[in-house]
Amino acid sequence: MVTNKELIKLTSDLIKFQSTKDNYSEIKKCLEYIKKYFANTNIIIKEFEYNKKPSLVISFQNKTHYKLLLNGHIDVVEADEEQYNPKIKEDKLYGRGAIDMKGGVAAFLLLIKELSKQKTQPDMALMIVSDEELGGPNGTGQLSKKYTADLVIASEPIQSISPSIINIVIAEKGVLWLKIIAKGKACHASRPWLGDNALVTLTQTYNKLKKLFPDTTTQNRWKNTLNLGKITGGDSPNKVPDYAEMLLDIRYIESTNSKKLISKIKKILPKNVTVEIIDDAPMLINKNMLQIKKLQQSIAKSTQTKVELLKEHGASDLRFYSDKGIPAVICGPLGSNYHGKEEFIYISSLELYYKALKNFVKENY
Ligand SMILES: [Zn+2]
Repeated sequence: MVTNKELIKLTSDLIKFQSTKDNYSEIKKCLEYIKKYFANTNIIIKEFEYNKKPSLVISFQNKTHYKLLLNGHIDVVEADEEQYNPKIKEDKLYGRGAIDMKGGVAAFLLLIKELSKQKTQPDMALMIVSDEELGGPNGTGQLSKKYTADLVIASEPIQSISPSIINIVIAEKGVLWLKIIAKGKACHASRPWLGDNALVTLTQTYNKLKKLFPDTTTQNRWKNTLNLGKITGGDSPNKVPDYAEMLLDIRYIESTNSKKLISKIKKILPKNVTVEIIDDAPMLINKNMLQIKKLQQSIAKSTQTKVELLKEHGASDLRFYSDKGIPAVICGPLGSNYHGKEEFIYISSLELYYKALKNFVKENY
C-alpha cells in the first residue's frame, strides 16, 4: 500500500535526524526536510524562532484561528548512535523518536499533503515545534499566544492494550518543582547541642510534607503525588551542617492547584526552612467536551473499537492550550519504550491512526 510505504519512509527519514533538544543544526535540518516535503504545493509555511528553538506553522489559509490545530514536536531525548538508524522487525519500526513523536508527525505531514490535493482545503493548521522535551516554552508556549483553535490534537504516545485501539488523553496532572532549603548552625559533631542540624530539620520537614499526599492505590492513581528527587547538605561526619536542600516533584490533580499547594506547604514549614518554586506547569484539563466527543465517535467508527478517554500522569505541551480554555487532547498511534533503548512504533497502528485522523478531518472540517 502506498500510504503505508510513505508513512514508513517519512517516519524513518525523520528518525535519522539527531534532533535532540540542544542540537540546533539537526533540528534545523529536520525542519528543512519538512519544508522540502511541501515544495510545489499550495501550503503556507510560517517560520518562527524563540531562543534558538525554531518551529513551523503549516496551513492552507493565512490566519491565526483554525477549527483544528495539530501539534507535533520533532525534538527527541538523547539516544545511542544506532537508534538514529531506523529498523523494521515485523510490525515494529524501531528508532529514537519513532513513537515520541516522529511517527505521529509523519502522519500529520502526509495528511496535510494529501488534503492539499483536494479541491477545497479544511480549516486547519499543523504546528511543528522543537522544545517539547524541554517543557515547550519557546515552541507551543510562544505559538499558543499567536494561534488559537477550536480543538488541538497532539500525537504524543498513548496507552492502549493493542495496536488496533486508539485512545484519547483528556487530562494530565499539573507539575510543581520545589526547592526546600533548611538553614541551621554549624558546630563540631562532638558537641551537637551547640549547633542546629539543617539536614535533620530538612528530613523532618520532608516527613511532614509527605503527610499532605495520600498514598495511591492500584485502583486509583489519580491523586496528588510527591517525589523526593535530590537531597544535598553537609560535608563530613564530624560536623553539624548548617545548610541542606532538597528538590521535590509534585504532581497534582483538579481538586487543587499550585497556589493552594504552596500555601499548604508554607504553613507547615518551620521558621528556618524556606521554599523556592523551580517550575510550575498547570494541568491539562478539558471542560468543553463537545469537539472531543466528536473525535471519540469518529475514531471509534474508523477503528471499529471502543475509544477510551484517559487521564495521564505525565505532562505535555497541550497544557498551554487548555490553560486558555481551548479543548486539547493527546491522540496518537501506539508504540512503546519512548525515551528508552528499544523505542518503537507499531506500523499497523501508525497506518490506522492516519486513516482515523483523515476520516475525522474529512467528516468535520
Ligand atoms: Zn513527546
